[in-house]
Amino acid sequence: MLAMILKEQKKPLVREEIPKPVAKDDELLIKVKACGVCRTDLHVKDAELPHPKLPLVLGHEIVGVVEEMGKNVRGFQKGDRVGVPWLGGTCGACEFCNEGQENLCNNALYTGYLTDGGFAQYAVCKADFAIPLRPGLSDTQTAPLLCAGLIGYRAYRKAAPKKTLGVYGFGAAAHILTQLATFEGKEVYAFTRDKDIKSQEFAKQLGAVWAGDSSSLPPVQLDAAIIFAPVGELVPLSLKALKKGGRCICGGIHMSDIPSFPYKDLWEERSIQSVANLTRKDGKDFFAAIARFPIQTNVTIYPLEKANEALEDLRNGKFEGAAVLEIP
Ligand SMILES: [Zn+2]
Ligand SMILES: [Zn+2]
Repeated sequence: MLAMILKEQKKPLVREEIPKPVAKDDELLIKVKACGVCRTDLHVKDAELPHPKLPLVLGHEIVGVVEEMGKNVRGFQKGDRVGVPWLGGTCGACEFCNEGQENLCNNALYTGYLTDGGFAQYAVCKADFAIPLRPGLSDTQTAPLLCAGLIGYRAYRKAAPKKTLGVYGFGAAAHILTQLATFEGKEVYAFTRDKDIKSQEFAKQLGAVWAGDSSSLPPVQLDAAIIFAPVGELVPLSLKALKKGGRCICGGIHMSDIPSFPYKDLWEERSIQSVANLTRKDGKDFFAAIARFPIQTNVTIYPLEKANEALEDLRNGKFEGAAVLEIP
């Protein structure tokens, strides 16, 4: 099969023909139709996340069709449409797994990081971690839901805004979350890179009641803020925008250092919390939550061979919404 392979961190992916993977007893073999390009892929490539499997097929927003099943797999059939997210496996035995926090599992497998992902024509995944997908959105439009959507959703649940929610960094996750939050009657305040008028317009089209530069203060105080951009400076900035008791949720897996800030900005029970990975329950809850209204994703489609270009365009903020690789 054709795959785009990371052989060494900080180097471009290499196009190569490699053997099609074989499903183990508890796995599905999936013919990949589309795979989203996530900022985490960039963090792995740039060596901001250490010790990936190498060589590695990146990609953890996989949409495809079940082609073969291992002999212990139940509940799937050949031809089923499925999604494969970042959480690819857990140990089921550690203290976190036992306490309903499998997102924090001590021995988790992460798709496209510790196992091969979806920047390829085929992928395997543990059947228990695959997400059955209903018909509806196209494969390319569905792909960003599997990480940007899911992680955004987990961050949103942690933020739990009564009414006013700030989102810092208006990329793939924010553009999905804004639609859900607006549907649920929240007011979304979108913060973008300085003078990024296009992203600000895009945010308003999707329902944001206000959009402005990250360094500006919104017209109202916020119940909560979610930071999706990997920029530590945004944490103290967002604290200044929060009400008493407000929550700052950091939604990314990597962020530059957070500069020091006066304690008074945290005082009055403001809090800062990160969100790590996802649980299978998040997957179920998220897809149920978005089934209530016609969600749209804005995707820029690249052929598989253009994975490097898609990653660089993501780095440079060249598109609104999400980049997706389409695999014919
Ligand atoms: Zn575990
Ligand atoms: Zn991701």
